[in-house]
Amino acid sequence: MRTNYLLFLILVMSLCSCEHKVVTQSNLAFVSDEVKSSTIEALKNNYPDLELRIERGVNHAASLWYEEDGTPSDFKAFCEEHFVSDEEERRILFDKISRNLEILNGHFNMISLELQEPLHLKYGEIKPIDETFGGFNPSAHLQEDLFAGKIAFEVALNFPFYSLSEKKEFAKEWTRLDWAYARMGDVFTSRIPAHLKQEVSRVGSNSDVYISQYNIYAGNLVDEAGNRPFPEHMVLLSHWNLRDELKANYPLGNVGLQKQKMIYQVMKRIISQSIPNDVINNGEFLWNPYTNQVFANGSEVTLDSEPDTRYQQIVNNFRALRAMDAYTPLDTYIKRKFEGEMEISQPEVEALFVEFLESEVLKEVGTLISERLGRPLEPFDIWYDGFKARSNINEEHLTAQTRKLYPDAAALDSDLPDLLIKLGFPAEKAHSLGEKITVDPARGSGHAWGAAMKGQQSHLRTRVPESGMDYKGYNIAIHEFGHNVEQTLSLYDVDYYMLNGVPNTAFTEALAFIFQKRDLQLLGRSDKSPEQEALKTLDVLWSTYEIMGVSLLDMRVWKWLYEHPDATASELKDATVTLAKEIWNNYYAPVYGMKDEPVLAIYSHMVSYPLYLSAYAYGNIIEFQLEQYLTEQDFAEEVQRIFRQGRLTPNQWMMEAVGSPIDVHPMIEAAKEALKQI
Ligand SMILES: [Zn+2]
Repeated sequence: MRTNYLLFLILVMSLCSCEHKVVTQSNLAFVSDEVKSSTIEALKNNYPDLELRIERGVNHAASLWYEEDGTPSDFKAFCEEHFVSDEEERRILFDKISRNLEILNGHFNMISLELQEPLHLKYGEIKPIDETFGGFNPSAHLQEDLFAGKIAFEVALNFPFYSLSEKKEFAKEWTRLDWAYARMGDVFTSRIPAHLKQEVSRVGSNSDVYISQYNIYAGNLVDEAGNRPFPEHMVLLSHWNLRDELKANYPLGNVGLQKQKMIYQVMKRIISQSIPNDVINNGEFLWNPYTNQVFANGSEVTLDSEPDTRYQQIVNNFRALRAMDAYTPLDTYIKRKFEGEMEISQPEVEALFVEFLESEVLKEVGTLISERLGRPLEPFDIWYDGFKARSNINEEHLTAQTRKLYPDAAALDSDLPDLLIKLGFPAEKAHSLGEKITVDPARGSGHAWGAAMKGQQSHLRTRVPESGMDYKGYNIAIHEFGHNVEQTLSLYDVDYYMLNGVPNTAFTEALAFIFQKRDLQLLGRSDKSPEQEALKTLDVLWSTYEIMGVSLLDMRVWKWLYEHPDATASELKDATVTLAKEIWNNYYAPVYGMKDEPVLAIYSHMVSYPLYLSAYAYGNIIEFQLEQYLTEQDFAEEVQRIFRQGRLTPNQWMMEAVGSPIDVHPMIEAAKEALKQI
């Protein structure tokens, strides 16, 4: 887990809300085409060499100008007065705005960090007022204030927005300064009315509640012989706990298989919404998911099915998000999520996934899994986890070591430079990084909270029990440490503040996992063997196979929604099941040997985190490419070089990091090699 305040704030700048001004559809295109043209003409007469920059800047500023900002002639006058033609003057303007954004981001970051300390750190009992302040967003009105003060328009006019495809096109010729200018152009790209944002939060939080209460009383599941195979009090949250229970049954032979089949039957009832409504989050009834019979006090009762609520939630999210389309240059939620947030276009993501899903190596790995299981594959084997490399080292020994090394947070804090030295960082760099990272004793499992201006610390929050840090806690702390190192390098060592950070969350997660994998090395131990490495590769490949299928479904469902904007929940249900089976038949049936399975539609993310799943798949690919590159290179030197690049677009970042764009082939090739070793 990782918190980067700047990325957050920039995002908030285009998403934050302002209650006291209601902007309506009628404000759209307030500056007419005629006014735009005459403004452009007037500026071009003065600066004929700057035609392109003038057009881009005026058009972008006009797209953000609403009635409340002034009359059309005010707009024209503003542009004439504030357009900076001289390049040296423009650079001075850039430096000043950049410095001030750093001041704003940095201080708002500190306010949030400190207000939330009673929630995150060991400050005694949490009182309701702590939670109220914890939910308070000090920068909620910053964006509106920057528009009201015309600062946003000055930025938009002189540092206009470039679309993803333009960034891609210009990447080859852009200097670092050009990139920094373009990132400044990303700060103000849209002004979405507050009531629309509120509606998105409202339906989003309803979906979260729906998903967070979708518990299945596994102890109440019965088969036709009247057996109840799960422990009496077992309650499983869909789909995460259902999946984890399914995984946990792999070592249990035929008994495990029967339980796995029962869980899959429950999943199918959820997907088709034939699940009796009153067995959800309710332990009153016994339920046979095969026959769909329900029993109370020994006799059969009739219950209504869930009334397509699962799909109604998706429809609600779709309608609320679609209402924003008119207010942003990225005019669908699909574009905002992919081009905007991930900075990889949706068609590009889909093409990459399909390329992976069609790879022949999946068939061979499927055959290997079937051999290891001693049975034909079942649809739920998308979650097969038998490649997980088990450590040979006893965890109790490791815990004894970590408790002794880290009796409290301060002990870890003072050890950070040494950990970096063990990873090959030069002593001086290790100390300067260590000085910028503070370890705090956390209440929960921990997180990494990054700095947002130079001079600030990034915080490694970790749980240290009274008895000292156990191995599991240490392992997570090393993950967070990876985030902190990324946060520090990509803020302090990047040449322009506007470029600080990484392209998207997958990149910081990659470094966090790369650190985490080296946790034993940092304890002076190692249990690496070629076989374990090969198993790890197959494990990553198989989990990528699973997550890409569900991501593909998520994307195709949203494309279908945009093609059928008035769809009802029941129509969406039918479409989702059809699309899930289609993807299964194309990319899974050739490996699994059976058709028309709907399993890919079970993911809860589709309901409460629309279009988020693809980020996991990208995380796997990026981490694999980086890890492979770093194992062959000077680790510390290359980590520093790579994370100094800052926030380029993902593909450009990867090109400059490892010499090739984001690509599935390294993983596929490594899997072929791994198969030879097993
Ligand atoms: Zn993380």
